[in-house]
Amino acid sequence: MDRDPFLTEGGTTYPVHRRDLEARKRAVYGAFLAMGAAGALFSLALNLVRSTPDPAVARIQLATALVLGISMSIVRWRRIPLAPLERGTFAAGSIAIVASIAWSLYGADSAALGRSAVQATLHWVPLVFAFGFLAFSGRAATQGAVGLLGAVAALVVPHDVAAARSGVSDDLFVLVQALVAYAVLIAGLRFFADLHVRASSLERTAERMRSLAHTDALTGLGNRRQADLWLVREVQRATRYARPFSVLMLDIDHFKRLNDEHGHAAGDRVLVDLANELVGMVRASDAVVRWGGEEFLVLAPETGLEDAVQVAELVRRQVAKLPLGDAHRTTVSVGVAAHRSGDDPDSLVARADAALYMAKRSGRNTVRQEIAPPS
Ligand code: GH3
Ligand code: MG
Ligand code: MG
Repeated sequence: MDRDPFLTEGGTTYPVHRRDLEARKRAVYGAFLAMGAAGALFSLALNLVRSTPDPAVARIQLATALVLGISMSIVRWRRIPLAPLERGTFAAGSIAIVASIAWSLYGADSAALGRSAVQATLHWVPLVFAFGFLAFSGRAATQGAVGLLGAVAALVVPHDVAAARSGVSDDLFVLVQALVAYAVLIAGLRFFADLHVRASSLERTAERMRSLAHTDALTGLGNRRQADLWLVREVQRATRYARPFSVLMLDIDHFKRLNDEHGHAAGDRVLVDLANELVGMVRASDAVVRWGGEEFLVLAPETGLEDAVQVAELVRRQVAKLPLGDAHRTTVSVGVAAHRSGDDPDSLVARADAALYMAKRSGRNTVRQEIAPPS
């Protein structure tokens, strides 16, 4: 339906549902990284205004700001695919957490310093979990998060069990609570991830249903319901901006006879062919819909009565020449009406219908325009 002029106007008929998820992710990641870079610069400023600035720390802060800033521009750059970046970031975050905890427990100068470093590192675990669920599907994210949780537990639990045994500390109690809380967090994230999958599948189904409800099954054109929506919109537009807008009502001549002689299936094939031909005959900005059995409506925005009659005449002549379906010759009668001030869709279509009736009355295979308004 991409040749549809009305869809792209952004209305209520088919709003674009799938806003680019990747673009949103890039925006969110970019914002996080920008905040991180700003935070690093802020810490650097705080460090430098101190009476005794720490040059080593200042270098780390500056490097952090730079790395985050560069990462931000990489993430925002559309040409670089997001998925490997996400995977890499999740892996790097997990490795950083495990390495930091290992160092804190086994490499720190003092046990007290190590403990507080472990505590500080544990704060980052939920963030990495959340990122995992943003980056991966529910199952993969769960596996990654459980893996990280297992690695953290494998490092810290034996250490704390030993410390508790020898009566050095009761950190085990705190740690077990943290681990349980993380497990609950993973379950919660998984639940929401599954919910999200279900919601998007429902959204897709709804979109499909909406599209089906507005499409004619035989010809693939918009159906009467679709026509009604478009008519309302185009009449409103024509009224508000005082723009020309015309409609052409086409009806196949003696179609019943064709059905009777060649069968309903042959008639169907004629309808399908005619629908395709009509779409090709009118402007890309026009819309063709199947109004009823063997009646089609052409909506022609920015087209006045005279021009619309010319289009109708062209269509009529071309249809008469075309072999349709199983090489049948058919003709159409066309009624044309143009929007007038005070029109609603019904009054406009009624005039096109009346003009079509006149075309039939005058022998078919002909075009008639609406009766001119009393001047
Ligand atoms: P006129 O020139 O006055 O329009 O004559 P007509 O026979 O085309 O008009 P009438 O309204 O009497 O008959 C329309 C026919 O269109 C009757 C119906 O069987 C046929 N028709 C309507 N919908 C379909 C369809 O989906 N498939 C087929 N094969 N025929 C259809
Ligand atoms: Mg008819
Ligand atoms: Mg007919």
